[in-house]
Amino acid sequence: MSRDVEVVVIGAGQAGLSAAHHLARLGLDLVVLDAEERAGGAWQHRWPSLTLARTHHVHDLPGLPFPPAGDDVPAADAVPAYFAEYERHFALPVHRPVRVRAVRRAPDDSRREHRSELCARGADRGAESGRRAWPDDRFRVETSDGDWTADAVVNATGTWTRPFVPRYPGQELFRGRQLTPVDYRGAAEFAGQSVVVVGGGASAVQLLGEIAEVADTTWVTRRPPVWREAPFGPDEGRAAVALVEDAVREGRSPGSVVGVTGLVVTPWVREARARSVLARLPVFDRFTPDGVAWDDGRFVRADAVLWATGFRAALGHLAPLGLRGPGGGIRMEGTHVAGEPRVHLVGYGPSASTVGANRAGREAAVALRRLLRPEAALPR
Ligand code: FAD
Repeated sequence: MSRDVEVVVIGAGQAGLSAAHHLARLGLDLVVLDAEERAGGAWQHRWPSLTLARTHHVHDLPGLPFPPAGDDVPAADAVPAYFAEYERHFALPVHRPVRVRAVRRAPDDSRREHRSELCARGADRGAESGRRAWPDDRFRVETSDGDWTADAVVNATGTWTRPFVPRYPGQELFRGRQLTPVDYRGAAEFAGQSVVVVGGGASAVQLLGEIAEVADTTWVTRRPPVWREAPFGPDEGRAAVALVEDAVREGRSPGSVVGVTGLVVTPWVREARARSVLARLPVFDRFTPDGVAWDDGRFVRADAVLWATGFRAALGHLAPLGLRGPGGGIRMEGTHVAGEPRVHLVGYGPSASTVGANRAGREAAVALRRLLRPEAALPR
């Protein structure tokens, strides 16, 4: 027997909590389903040396400021504590641990009958509450803890569960360790080793700097990194987000916002550069059992290869909805899937940052309120 709401929010990270906050504020009937054991979204899994000072700033969720915390506090402690307080403060209906396995279009016959009965009595729920009926096409959200039916879905499942690892010839022959930032717990375990770090993003640079203090490191990136001497201004931020927006509007893969912003030269980066830690090589051509090799004859022995090669959106559970176009991407209009105003992807593409997730959550909630309760005035 499935439970019924207007909106199911999937995921309780920054994007899901922002959406839930605004949906609740706008009077919609919702539930948040989150796969984690506790509050914190992906932040609870970040490596322990990622302190608040080393993040690019975690923006306040709407309506409750981040409490003061020391710069040296691990983000994996501070952010989950804040999210837990946020859920309590606004009494958000978060159910966990609940993993969504599939979302399907599902005409709900029992609900349809119920609705026609109400309509016949001239007292449909829409008339009572301003709620619009979607009798023909609803969503069934199948989870590790039973099913839900809903008029709309806000997907906020982030990327952390899908680190991307490219394939190279001979990879399966490599006898060393291969890991991603998801597996990284600190540099100590690499003491005295030879480690190849792959990737041109902020995570690669940060982990490289740490590991280089205890190990021999080699940094490889597909393209030469683009360094930014000055921090990002709001106009540049908007321009970068607009590039990712263009990609998703055209149904291309979103890439990452950092991919278009370049790497900011922090004092820490300057110091790593001075230690020659950031001397970069192009990506190797193949693995050998003991390391990595280039076609020009270069070889680097490696005990470990750390793939800091980005993440992909965790959207497998939406596959039954057939949202992807022929090129494999999902065409978006703002925060909703093009042609499907009842499926919103927040924290996706241009909104894959804490500030972007905040805004996307609000935009999705306002759009759904207008769509599902067209008769009712929006509260201020
Ligand atoms: P998440 O925080 O990943 O939350 C997703 C939630 O969905 C999780 O709780 C997950 O368990 C749940 N979930 C996933 N699949 C399912 C499912 N099938 N069923 C139920 N629940 C599910 N942004 C910044 O603005 N500043 C920074 O400093 C910054 N640093 C970053 C550092 C790293 C290492 C990384 C990887 C990202 C960083 N970002 C930063 C990006 C930022 O963390 C995210 O874009 C932002 O927090 C939005 O997160 P989210 O809500 O989309 O996802």
